[in-house]
Amino acid sequence: MNGYDVILIGGGLAGLTAAIHLAQNGRAVCLIEKAKYPHHKVCGEYVSNEVVPYLQSLGVSLSENSVVIDSLQLSTVTGQHLELNLPLGGFGISRYAFDHLLFQRARQLGVEFVFEAATSITFHENSFECIAATGKKYQAEIVIGAFGKRSQLDKKLKRDFMNRKSSWLGVKCHYEYSDLPNNRVALHNFQGGYGGLSRTETGAVNFCYLASYESFKRYKNIDCFNTGVVRQNPFLDRFLAEAKPVFDAPLSIAQISFEEKKPIENHIIMCGDAAGLIHPLCGNGMAMAIHSAKIASERILQYFDEESYDRARLEFDYETAWKAAFTKRLSTGRRLQAVLLNESISKIAMATVAKSSWLLKKLIAQTHGKPLIC
Ligand SMILES: Cc1cc2nc3c(=O)[nH]c(=O)nc-3n(C[C@H](O)[C@H](O)[C@H](O)COP(=O)(O)OP(=O)(O)OC[C@H]3O[C@@H](n4cnc5c(N)ncnc54)[C@H](O)[C@@H]3O)c2cc1C
Repeated sequence: MNGYDVILIGGGLAGLTAAIHLAQNGRAVCLIEKAKYPHHKVCGEYVSNEVVPYLQSLGVSLSENSVVIDSLQLSTVTGQHLELNLPLGGFGISRYAFDHLLFQRARQLGVEFVFEAATSITFHENSFECIAATGKKYQAEIVIGAFGKRSQLDKKLKRDFMNRKSSWLGVKCHYEYSDLPNNRVALHNFQGGYGGLSRTETGAVNFCYLASYESFKRYKNIDCFNTGVVRQNPFLDRFLAEAKPVFDAPLSIAQISFEEKKPIENHIIMCGDAAGLIHPLCGNGMAMAIHSAKIASERILQYFDEESYDRARLEFDYETAWKAAFTKRLSTGRRLQAVLLNESISKIAMATVAKSSWLLKKLIAQTHGKPLIC
């Protein structure tokens, strides 16, 4: 049996950030992650700048590993389009590089890594026991659940959202393509979904899209769907005709759920997508994952440092702060999703947004946070 202050389950952005924050402040931390680094993930790979000061305070510097992005292009199914400067901007970096960078920083700070799937988490007499796939047991006073949008653990924990239909799938591939300005993230709409184009640190362009099952199920595979639906957008048609894939085959994930989740479950502090996933259209999920790790870490440190700050207070404070930071953004994201799922409303809404940079700026402000103060 191994005892730690904190165990993190899942080493994506939320888990790695919290591990770094806690280890940097002297806590004994173990992170259980099922896949070794580095690895690619389905993600748009555009990160909002709101997290930069916080990451710098954790000793993570992104400047030499990423591409500055400060302009957005948006197009409708028929190619009506709009360009605007992004008020706060962001950067392009592959998840392959980003997660690996954080992993290296966490290891430098002494975080212990276990590369196995966690299969169970139980809470008993004010402490947790986590069991990994090989049967090895790990104990800690606090557990952070950072296992992403959908995990076997959600089923084990009988989380409500697992009983509801998840009607989206995501596809991603890197391409060689010269005709995209380095500083641009492009968001192109197609029937039943939308795709983002942005450059990563390797110079490759990431094309990642989200499509509803309703739209996808009429086609045999990704190639047929691309031809029949995605390429109806003239920008994406040109991109897919000219760009050269870097991967052997695109990566894909299914059953993506944007349903409400609880930020605390069985005393586990949920971070990142495990607490709630915002629609990728908002380009903000990674920043939210990192931000939630900050909220959790600050309160966990208080729990260890102040005698009167007990578990009930920790859980209450985390849930309150999480809701204050994210509830409004998530509900705006859900409203956008409802619009996108309705074909005729979606056409009108996208055409309206594509004509008005004022409206688009307002939407961006509603779904993004301010730079995180350290
Ligand atoms: C199609 C799509 C495009 C997106 N585009 C963008 C974008 O451009 N910009 C943006 O900011 N956000 C985007 N997002 C959202 C963003 O990807 C997520 O919000 C972000 O990855 C959340 O980080 P996380 O750490 O919570 O989860 P993840 O990064 O998913 O990490 C979870 C980790 O948990 C591990 N894990 C799961 N189960 C177990 C287990 N039982 N035991 C051990 N480990 C486990 C997984 O292996 C994984 O490494 C997009 C999402 C989708 C679906």
